Amino acid sequence: MALDIQWALRWLALTAEAMKEHREELIELDRPIGDSDHGENMDRGFQAVIVKIAEAPPETPGAALKLTAMTLMSKVGGAAGPLYGTAFLRAATALGDAAEVDAATLATALQAARDGIVARGKAEPGDKTMVDAWTPAIEAAAAAAGNGDVRKMLLAAADAAEAGAVSTDPMQARKGRASYLGERSIGHRDPGAVSTALILRAAAGAAE
Ligand code: ADP
Ligand code: MG
Repeated sequence: MALDIQWALRWLALTAEAMKEHREELIELDRPIGDSDHGENMDRGFQAVIVKIAEAPPETPGAALKLTAMTLMSKVGGAAGPLYGTAFLRAATALGDAAEVDAATLATALQAARDGIVARGKAEPGDKTMVDAWTPAIEAAAAAAGNGDVRKMLLAAADAAEAGAVSTDPMQARKGRASYLGERSIGHRDPGAVSTALILRAAAGAAE
């Protein structure tokens, strides 16, 4: 299994499908601890990505992720747009213009995406944000990188991101809109952590 442009395009198509399918769920998660727009933001953003890909098909995984970054930055408002935009841009830079992504490069790209989110949003693990899904995901990917199987790496990352999203339930938010609620943010799952898990699950699905 090679992570090539076909994989990247499948990944983005599966992500757009997932955001459409989970639109209401993400809206409902963002209702008690935010402003109910996360599902709308993510769905709109990834539908726009699909349109951009159709207009000018990218030829490498890096180019596909760069186009995704630019589109998310311009089409997704709020906190998530710039954060995911930065993540995809850093990942794109890590991939460069290679035609195929190997395990070591994949681990580096995921790490770069997560570090971009932290650089931009200044959240730490435990602050109840998407960082709580990304951090275990990159750790799981790095741990799995040794055997060189990119598909297994992506599955491990997706599993860890899903567990990371669940782990935000008892956390008190210290960053973003949810932090305004203080202790009342406890007992709710962070929507951005859930959308991160959906994105990484799609990446794994695209490698099946
Ligand atoms: P907004 O909060 O502006 O309405 P969204 O609802 O689209 O934007 O996205 C909210 C998500 O963004 C949160 O669930 C959280 O995961 C993430 N987020 C918010 N602020 C930060 C931050 N500083 N660092 C990392 N992630 C953040
Ligand atoms: Mg919101």
